[in-house]
Amino acid sequence: TDISALLLSRIRDVADYPEPGVMFKDITPLLADPEAFTALSDALAGIARSTGATKVVGLEARGFILGAPVAVRAGLGFIPVRKAGKLPGATLSQAYDLEYGSAEIEVHAEDLTRDDRVLVVDDVLATGGTAEASVQLIRRAGAEVAGLAVLMELGFLGGRARLEPALAGAPLEAL
Ligand code: 5GP
Repeated sequence: TDISALLLSRIRDVADYPEPGVMFKDITPLLADPEAFTALSDALAGIARSTGATKVVGLEARGFILGAPVAVRAGLGFIPVRKAGKLPGATLSQAYDLEYGSAEIEVHAEDLTRDDRVLVVDDVLATGGTAEASVQLIRRAGAEVAGLAVLMELGFLGGRARLEPALAGAPLEAL
């Protein structure tokens, strides 16, 4: 579609970053282009509305940049899911495996309730590990997952298949 072509044209491939053999998708040219950034925010806000979300969760750090304007545009609250140790209040934590080692993400427990339906927003879906952990965290907080929306899915890494059981029918939208 037109918007996909516009968005794709503003994503830069950076070879061998952050390590040799990786082709990193750099979204900073898109953020710097008001037409593309606005089109992305509007498209994600449309997904938020169509899924009936009551809150937007953004995943640190680029999910904050993309998720905040979506929350404002859709008239919803924004909840940050952060790397461990960054949130000052009482948190729920979720650990997950990386290629080497493990990582942990957290959310303020009081930010989500049983009445919430949450749209998770991030820039890139790669292996799906981060998104899967966020879905588990949201459910453990008592809320429902309305869906996952990303700018870009790296299909060859199989994240969609990995996420299917965790999403349990909730939509995964990649622009
Ligand atoms: P996953 O957990 O799906 O393997 O990795 C996804 C997380 O790593 C996302 O939070 C995303 O921001 C980051 N990530 C992985 N690969 C890339 C990439 O090529 N470009 C960008 N911008 N982020 C990436």
